[in-house]
Amino acid sequence: MNTLYIGALDIGGTKIAATVAGCEGPLARITQPTVKTGSPRALGEQVTALLHAACDQAGVERELLQTVGVCSCGPFVKIDGTVGLVTPNICGGLKYSPDLPNDWKIIPLEQVMRESFGKIVIENDCVAALVAERTFGAVQDEPDCIYATWSTGIGFGLCVDGRVLRGKHGNAGHGGHMLMDWQSDAVCGCGNRGDLEALISGRNVGARLGMSAADIFTAARGGDAAAREIAVEAAQWFGRALYNLAAILDTRIFVIGGSVWIHHGEWLAPFVQKEIESRLPALTEGVSIVPAGLEGLVADVGALSLVMPAGWIPEWRKAQPWRDPQPWRKQGA
Ligand SMILES: [Zn+2]
Repeated sequence: MNTLYIGALDIGGTKIAATVAGCEGPLARITQPTVKTGSPRALGEQVTALLHAACDQAGVERELLQTVGVCSCGPFVKIDGTVGLVTPNICGGLKYSPDLPNDWKIIPLEQVMRESFGKIVIENDCVAALVAERTFGAVQDEPDCIYATWSTGIGFGLCVDGRVLRGKHGNAGHGGHMLMDWQSDAVCGCGNRGDLEALISGRNVGARLGMSAADIFTAARGGDAAAREIAVEAAQWFGRALYNLAAILDTRIFVIGGSVWIHHGEWLAPFVQKEIESRLPALTEGVSIVPAGLEGLVADVGALSLVMPAGWIPEWRKAQPWRDPQPWRKQGA
């Protein structure tokens, strides 16, 4: 049977977006706050209902939507071969979860979705963003590239020899938690001290001067010495992490997104580039960094890209339907 419609989910800690698309572009998109009460099945039930509501809004029969791509915050575990979420900002029963109104340890996301959909592909948000950027963004068809996000969290999507790396549970690329400075007092949400995310995530950078991260980067660019020191140091940690990854994977190009990079990447890039280039030229010569091409819609386009029939891609590349804000911006269930 030809695929006529595909669905996409962007599952974040605070918000979920459900999109239904046809071969010419997205038809409807609905967002809702992420459910955090009830049984651990609640999230799977919420996303199913949201996709069905998007079908109704698009005028698509619910039974025709069988294929769904999911871009979700991680980490993941496998439950009988299906993907479950053990996400600290949704599951209240984990050791390092913030105060949440549930005691969930694992969310059986794929198990619940399988009751309603035939084909489901679930990837963590950086892997989905990598697929989006390789399909429609700044690194189209590039075989050796890494997507990096620098936002409230830090993460990577890794592609080597044209193959996207996933790992035993689909968690490859959770490089925000690589240990960088064991003597640091900075604590990450995961419990680590001195991991990359502890050192430079938007939240932790801001905490050091009692300002928001956005204010620190803005002040640094305006010449404030204390803010500049923190911002440059953060860029250097980020650059060292990229160097490590380039050395391990022989990467050609980094494509970088996330709110910090979208707003300040132009200013941060020279510091980051210097950290990559200043080591082992045999591995790092010519390694470049470019800004992500899809910006705010990368998660939605990423989730669609995970399941999009190959025959749709040339048309979508030409029409660039993500530039037409209409169906993407319709809100409310
Ligand atoms: Zn961490």
